[in-house]
Amino acid sequence: MLIRCPPWSIIDGVMTVSTKQIDQRQATDVPKRADATGNQAIQNQVTALTGYNLFLSDRTLVSAVERDAAWAREQISELGRLLGTAEAQRWGFEANENTPVLHTHDRYGNRRDEVLFHPSYHHVIRTSVENRIHNLPWVEKRAGSHLARAALMMMAAQNEAGHTCPISMTYACVPALRREPDLARQWESMIFSDMYDARFIPATEKTGVLLGMGMTEKQGGSDVRANITQAERIGSSREYLITGHKWFCSAPMCDAFLILAQTAKGLTCFFLPRWTPTGERNKFHIQRLKDKLGNRSNASSEVEFAGAWAHLVGEEGRGVSTIIEMVNHTRLDCAIAGAALMRQGLVQALHHAAHRKAFGKRLIDQPLMSNVLADLAIESEAATQLMVRLARSFDARESDERERAFCRIATAIAKYWLCKRAPAHVGEALECLGGNGYVEESIMPRLYREAPLNSIWEGSGNVICLDVLRAMAKEPASVEALMDELRLGTKYDTRLGSYVSQIQSDMSSCLKLLLSNGGGGEGQARRLTEQLALALQAGLLVRHGAPEIADAFIVTRLGNKHGRAFGTLPPQVDLDGMLERAAHDLGA
Ligand SMILES: Cc1cc2nc3c(=O)[nH]c(=O)nc-3n(C[C@H](O)[C@H](O)[C@H](O)COP(=O)(O)OP(=O)(O)OC[C@H]3O[C@@H](n4cnc5c(N)ncnc54)[C@H](O)[C@@H]3O)c2cc1C
Repeated sequence: MLIRCPPWSIIDGVMTVSTKQIDQRQATDVPKRADATGNQAIQNQVTALTGYNLFLSDRTLVSAVERDAAWAREQISELGRLLGTAEAQRWGFEANENTPVLHTHDRYGNRRDEVLFHPSYHHVIRTSVENRIHNLPWVEKRAGSHLARAALMMMAAQNEAGHTCPISMTYACVPALRREPDLARQWESMIFSDMYDARFIPATEKTGVLLGMGMTEKQGGSDVRANITQAERIGSSREYLITGHKWFCSAPMCDAFLILAQTAKGLTCFFLPRWTPTGERNKFHIQRLKDKLGNRSNASSEVEFAGAWAHLVGEEGRGVSTIIEMVNHTRLDCAIAGAALMRQGLVQALHHAAHRKAFGKRLIDQPLMSNVLADLAIESEAATQLMVRLARSFDARESDERERAFCRIATAIAKYWLCKRAPAHVGEALECLGGNGYVEESIMPRLYREAPLNSIWEGSGNVICLDVLRAMAKEPASVEALMDELRLGTKYDTRLGSYVSQIQSDMSSCLKLLLSNGGGGEGQARRLTEQLALALQAGLLVRHGAPEIADAFIVTRLGNKHGRAFGTLPPQVDLDGMLERAAHDLGA
């Protein structure tokens, strides 16, 4: 198969390179003679994908922003350009190769509890703070601001995912913090800054702050009700002393944390800063850093609270319902990260396959490779469409009860499914690069190690699917809003109509079991959530996506005409059309 469209032309004319030019470029990339050391001439190696715009090359993201947040287009495009430069890519590599270092004590034995980072980590996180990925919707109260932020986040996570953890937690903490209006007023002015200040000094002396979250303890992360960390009230104030630990506390150099601890009334949410209001170091002791599979630029720690000062947030005993607003926003970010990892994997795979030859043809022109790439492109586009829809619901829910109800259940569905799809997708994309994809100098190993994490964070797979059932049982409005959304797509495609009818009946049976027998139906939660995610994605694709992608998605994902691995699209799927679109969009 020959891709006739120029693979590196780009929407909006940022760069246009014809197929002929690509051939010329490849020709000039290949040294004609042995190099100075006498090594053999390098042939058929692909040059790194740099100098492309992560935003303009992503047609789905561009049209979403045009539709709902056109005011942010310039900023998003500028960040897309920056993150495609060799320099910003280098920051990502260096931040992961030079991992954070914990200093528990100073040379005299005093507690220091500081984590030091490589300068490139600071460059990466400063870029995200300057782009307000940690606060945009709260500062820029315009229609589409969650979506605009989601587009920025989608690109930041493609370049360097680790730093997005504190960025996400800072964005997410705001709605929960507002349960304590005085405290929120005091801290929001610092959270709303667009200046990154890495100094370990009291927040009041800083130009900007970041926030984290501490819920997970040794005895349980999913079941936070098992938390044993204790909070003791100081006199009759809303101030407390916290004694206990957190088994996972990421980004411990954040300026403050929302944490959970037990009071006499039960699990309660607290605001725990690194420095006390009187300017002393809080008794927040970092025991050690986790040695993690991936996400290595980000420090994740174990901490002990030795009578640490904290301020109550919300009502005593209502900790989960207070912090859940934060968790909902970080779940949105997990869904964004899943889509981002798939997008970056696809982009790298397409780039490689368009420039590498095997058996006399470019890989992208080999029929079986084109099947794999097209399949990856379908999955990535469906993922982006779903995360965009979810982000839009975060915007719309402020003024629309229906959207609020939709957002409630769609957050869990999208979080589960996009995080679940990412590891398999990235693994397949990695293989498209052959041996080079397995080597650290490519970004692929980093994407691959990152991919499983989002599914563990903020409610692991099972916990999230059980949350879908909880929404069904306790918030019927969320099911109604979801079904309304699904019905929108059925008008365009009768196959989708039959699929949605089947889901409706599965949901009713599951709901009956749930209501008649507490815990009944739980075993079906993953199956149901997956079906709902696929139906949502299909509906979004028929309404907003390219017709050939929507058709292929419905045939393969809903119609069972697909294997268990990527690259098993049936003959009826228009691979040429799909790859033309994917390669055309990519840009360079
Ligand atoms: C790199 C990293 C950074 C982290 N950073 C933070 C942080 O900053 N703050 C923080 O609070 N936490 C953090 N976490 C912790 C994370 O949120 C927890 O690991 C997660 O919530 C799961 O909790 P757990 O590890 O205790 O596993 P468990 O709760 O023991 O769960 C183990 C498995 O059992 C499943 N399971 C649990 N309950 C059920 C059930 N009822 N039915 C079926 N299956 C079930 C879960 O889905 C999971 O697959 C981090 C984790 C990692 C890996």
